Amino acid sequence: MGLNCALDGPSGAGKSTIAKALAERFGFVYVDTGALYRSIGLFAVRSGANTSSAEEVVPLLKDIAVELKYVDGAQRVILNGEDVSDKIRTPEISMAASNVSAIPEVREFLLDLQRNIAAKNDIIMDGRDIGTVILPDAEVKVFMTASAEERARRRFDELTAKGQKVDYESILKDINQRDYNDSHRETSPLIKAKDAVELDTTKLSIDEVVDKISEMIKKALKEEQKSYRKIPAIRRWFYAILRFIISIPFKIIFNIKYEGTENVPQTGSVILAGNHRTWFDPILIAIKVKYISSYMAKAELFKYFPLNLIIRAVHGFPTRRNSGDVSALSLAEKYIRNGYNLTIFPEGTRSRNGKIGKAKSGVAYIASKCGVPVYPVGISYKGHLKFRRKITVRFGKPIMPEELKLESMSKTDLRAAGEKIMSKIALLVNNDE
Ligand code: C5P
Repeated sequence: MGLNCALDGPSGAGKSTIAKALAERFGFVYVDTGALYRSIGLFAVRSGANTSSAEEVVPLLKDIAVELKYVDGAQRVILNGEDVSDKIRTPEISMAASNVSAIPEVREFLLDLQRNIAAKNDIIMDGRDIGTVILPDAEVKVFMTASAEERARRRFDELTAKGQKVDYESILKDINQRDYNDSHRETSPLIKAKDAVELDTTKLSIDEVVDKISEMIKKALKEEQKSYRKIPAIRRWFYAILRFIISIPFKIIFNIKYEGTENVPQTGSVILAGNHRTWFDPILIAIKVKYISSYMAKAELFKYFPLNLIIRAVHGFPTRRNSGDVSALSLAEKYIRNGYNLTIFPEGTRSRNGKIGKAKSGVAYIASKCGVPVYPVGISYKGHLKFRRKITVRFGKPIMPEELKLESMSKTDLRAAGEKIMSKIALLVNNDE
């Protein structure tokens, strides 16, 4: 699940700068696939292999494990456990990457890694064959170009700013050479996908390019929301009306302040995870999120009439606590796949004193199984609840499934990922305000 945006083009067209800005703007994961080829190039150079020779490079692949990690949203490339993100940015490794990338076995080797990341996240992936080979079904495809001279000038400025001593002529020569390699190789040559939009950026500023592609992404996001529209209109209307009516007494009784509203999800099929303070936390969140949500609620609540009917009417479903309730998890998954959000309180029980508790493993399980982002929400108030008590509801930036770094679905890994989500929620809570 997730929206895929493929950004292809020759070296130095500005893809990574643009992709980073877009990822930041939309809260997407940025995948720089060039870094993968570079890390293989680095390994080959370190091994003393001739990087243009398939006979010498292919046998090395069995000794290579490449991984992408995300630290505070920034991509790091891990080669056999070593973070090589900075070491791969030299002209020597650029050329080595270009050479090894022409070897079909190398491309095959990196294929699943790239597709797996895309399957789980909203992503912007830059490279050479993303729109043609890696993600032929990407919702947004852009082919960015610029004249070789302009690209050489940009690379020169970029490297000089980093303090590297470089010379313009040799950069231009490198770029021409890499262009030639990339577009003349037999496997996945650099060509524009038929359905990609070509964007010549020679005379455009970074902001202009970002704005143009942003428009395309916004359009695609709207299309994506159509899965949300599959939910019968009557249910969406019922939910909207109910939300409105229920909000009235709460707004009168309490002084509810919303913060971080720019982070409120603008689509269905996401998870909202909050700390659990009051029995009406789901309502506090629903007042601001217009997209229809399902709710995981403790099984005991379903014993009481008419509470059970009300909870079911708003797509609440029971979960038995502390038992890893499998049917509840698969129901949650089903709701998400059908366009509903899921509102969940990972601690499971309410915290009377406002202290953040430990997360259960369900939230990370659902997030990674469905490959959807988790939007953290912090609910805070001082002391006890009373008339006109100020309650702050703060929305945080979404946590992408990739950031949870789940190696397996084991209880330990799920708990650790749950803790990560809880720690982001904790940052949004301040009970002294
Ligand atoms: O984009 P970047 O300059 O970091 O890529 C390094 C090299 O890796 C490129 O020159 C290109 O030959 C190769 N590459 C590729 N396919 C990709 C990304 C990069 O062949 N998807």
